[in-house]
Amino acid sequence: MTADSLQQAADSLAGAPVVLAVTGAGISAESGIPTFRGSGGLWNGFRAEELATPQAFAANPDRVWSWYRWRQQLCAQSNPNEAHHALVTLEQRCPDFLLATQNVDGLHPRAGSRALIELHGCIDKSRCTKCGQVRELALEGDPIPHCPECGAMARPHILWFGETYWPGIIEDAVAHAQRAHVAIVIGTSGRVWPPIAIALKAQECGATLIEINPERSELTEHADIWLQGSASEWLPALVSASS
Ligand code: NAD
Ligand code: ZN
Repeated sequence: MTADSLQQAADSLAGAPVVLAVTGAGISAESGIPTFRGSGGLWNGFRAEELATPQAFAANPDRVWSWYRWRQQLCAQSNPNEAHHALVTLEQRCPDFLLATQNVDGLHPRAGSRALIELHGCIDKSRCTKCGQVRELALEGDPIPHCPECGAMARPHILWFGETYWPGIIEDAVAHAQRAHVAIVIGTSGRVWPPIAIALKAQECGATLIEINPERSELTEHADIWLQGSASEWLPALVSASS
């Protein structure tokens, strides 16, 4: 990472009317929430792939819920960092902005992001397994919540491994990507492909693709500019240098 790359990225972002940001677990790493695949990717002794599946929930809903309740506590004890706040600043000054996040930790909405699509759901929401109603999930509520309407068990409102995206959600992000002048991808390994595909669509339609990540990802070889380093270091610097 050089000052030149930052300047180049800032020049493309300055005054860009349509901006897309795509975030992954790396943006929340400095808030103390572990990523899945880096070191510390073991969550309370479990690999995510073991519990974040419909099969795991069908086999043992109590265990899956207790893992999610534990994660919900962890997220509630964490706070948005400078990188989350920088995206709010960018949203407020950009006429047409969208943040598509893979994160389920709720830190973007808590930071104040409003033009937001949570592609993989949110740890602070539940969904009825029968009628599909999505509800806020209070921290102190029933450890295994049930639907107040129909009485069925609720599940975490999270897109689990092996599930398909909710109708329209990718399409909405792609529609924005097609108009974007700049796409910034922050803290994602790219192993989950659809969010990366959204950013690549933006690039295909003419956007400059900027990546912020301390390590190479699946996206790095495609990025026009790679700001190699942490989100809390580079994102505020980029937003301020482009104002
Ligand atoms: P990932 O764990 O696969 O990859 C994390 C990426 O972040 C890596 O490329 C790593 O180099 C980078 N990174 C680490 N520290 C960083 C920092 N300080 N600044 C910038 N980048 C940093 O994460 P993913 O690509 O988001 O995929 C994981 C999947 O698991 C997602 O689908 C997501 O829904 C879920 N997940 C969510 C959370 C969360 O909500 N915070 C946490 C873990 C996993
Ligand atoms: Zn219901």
